[in-house]
Amino acid sequence: MERANIVIIGAGVVGLAIAAKLSEKNEGVLLLEKNRRVGQEISSHNSGVIHSGIHYPKNSLKARLCVTGNRMMYKICSENNISHKMLGKLTVAIGEDEIREIESLKKQGDENGVEGMKIMDGGEVGRMEPLVKVDQALYTPTTGIIEPDELTNYYYRRASTNGTSISLATEVTEIKRVNYGYELSGTSGGSQFDLSARIVINSAGLYSDKVAALPGLDVDSLGYRLHYCKGDYFRVSGPPPVRRLIYPVPRGVGLGVHLTPDLSGSIKIGPNAYYVESIEYTNSSKSEEFRNDVKRYLPAIVKYQISEDSAGVRPKLQGPSDSFRDFVIREEADHGLPGFINLIGIDSPGLTATPAIAEYVSELCSRSVI
Ligand SMILES: Cc1cc2nc3c(=O)[nH]c(=O)nc-3n(C[C@H](O)[C@H](O)[C@H](O)COP(=O)(O)OP(=O)(O)OC[C@H]3O[C@@H](n4cnc5c(N)ncnc54)[C@H](O)[C@@H]3O)c2cc1C
Repeated sequence: MERANIVIIGAGVVGLAIAAKLSEKNEGVLLLEKNRRVGQEISSHNSGVIHSGIHYPKNSLKARLCVTGNRMMYKICSENNISHKMLGKLTVAIGEDEIREIESLKKQGDENGVEGMKIMDGGEVGRMEPLVKVDQALYTPTTGIIEPDELTNYYYRRASTNGTSISLATEVTEIKRVNYGYELSGTSGGSQFDLSARIVINSAGLYSDKVAALPGLDVDSLGYRLHYCKGDYFRVSGPPPVRRLIYPVPRGVGLGVHLTPDLSGSIKIGPNAYYVESIEYTNSSKSEEFRNDVKRYLPAIVKYQISEDSAGVRPKLQGPSDSFRDFVIREEADHGLPGFINLIGIDSPGLTATPAIAEYVSELCSRSVI
């Protein structure tokens, strides 16, 4: 039986970032991915926004890892030629209720250590973005955009260079606790494989609840069951109506239908947020609904052509009637699984947080006593 030191399940951007970090100091890191290529699931179906950290409660993992990840991300991008731009974002408010909401967001951002925020009146907003018509806005200058595939490829190269073995078309279907760690089995390139490992890291994205159940965790009683929450996108044709990211105040489970320039300047609208039963990436929304949402703060949108774009699926711990749920990133020693580290519910701001998540997991590994 092949023996690894650390096995990571899932070669999305998160698993790759963890592999890159762990293989700096550890021998025998093995990354297993069920698809034939890395980063084909959530990591390539998202908005590509480097979030500032205003949206998450103080001291939550999402807040801490996003704010730290934001700073680390700009450094990584600059030093490694990863396409990105720090464009800044306006979260816009119309009416008294929404003004109170952006004030609360600013307070939360202050508590989380987000730098440079400013509340602007409608006139200032109009000077920055002439087509945006609102009463006030919260400006967060540290929000930006990144090319997610370039980030995924960067972590892939670093993991490989540092000595991580990456096994594609390899799906883990069984995990058993044994006295020296874990035995894993499944299929690789159509054949059965078996291996053992001291530490196992579950970074399986939309499948992380199922992987958590393999060594016997009761995912329902632990609150690890995932809900799939779809997000569809449309694209604005012609000259871009805005230059920055423009968000409404968040409503419900998503951040509201917003405008995100990509690195070519073209504008994406979305994503919306609705729960679905299964994982699939077809866009099933109507452009008129998106246009109506955007019209509130960008009336000129009626003159623009909007065409269908991609879709993504969020791995949400938060069900339709639940309140905020944080990332689960923990070693399961207290559930009888020392050295088994779960990452579950890594939805937004997971991309932004990747460098900070990798450091956090590295800490958990070094403290783990098998
Ligand atoms: C619509 C949408 C918009 C988003 N926008 C942003 C944003 O703008 N900014 C931001 O910071 N974050 C954003 N996010 C969140 C971000 O994209 C995710 O947090 C991040 O991509 C998660 O990466 P991952 O590696 O955990 O998951 P994935 O990329 O899904 O990787 C998990 C991998 O595990 C593999 N796997 C699963 N089961 C097994 C198994 N049994 N054996 C082997 N391999 C397995 C899968 O094939 C997959 O490749 C967004 C997410 C969505 C859905």
